Amino acid sequence: MHEWALAEAVISTVSQIAGKERLKEVTEVRIKVGELQQVELDILKFALSQLETPKFRNAKFNIETVSAELKCRVCGYKWIFGKEGLNKDVAEAIHFVPEIAHAYVKCPECGSPDFEILQGRGIWLESVKGVK
Ligand SMILES: [Zn+2]
Repeated sequence: MHEWALAEAVISTVSQIAGKERLKEVTEVRIKVGELQQVELDILKFALSQLETPKFRNAKFNIETVSAELKCRVCGYKWIFGKEGLNKDVAEAIHFVPEIAHAYVKCPECGSPDFEILQGRGIWLESVKGVK
């Protein structure tokens, strides 16, 4: 159910921005979701469409998934987390509990399992467009 909480947060943040920018109407909202964030995009979109206020009547919600970027703590190598090399169950498990990635993912350069997640978690607003 946390998609609804996220949708509420998005609507309330966008409303604040719209207020500050004195927008009469919001036309486009770009949202980025980290690949490792557990969000069902369909539910999020549905929640947004249910929660929108008149100001959002013509708003288009553009949701983009951002690939996770990892950085090795041993050799400093950075790479994009790919689910290709993993079996489906493991990829799913990592999607829901990013912490367990350490058990399955190793640095392609030096083989160390000690890495940090630079990008790919969380959800954020990329931009808000509207009519004044
Ligand atoms: Zn390394």
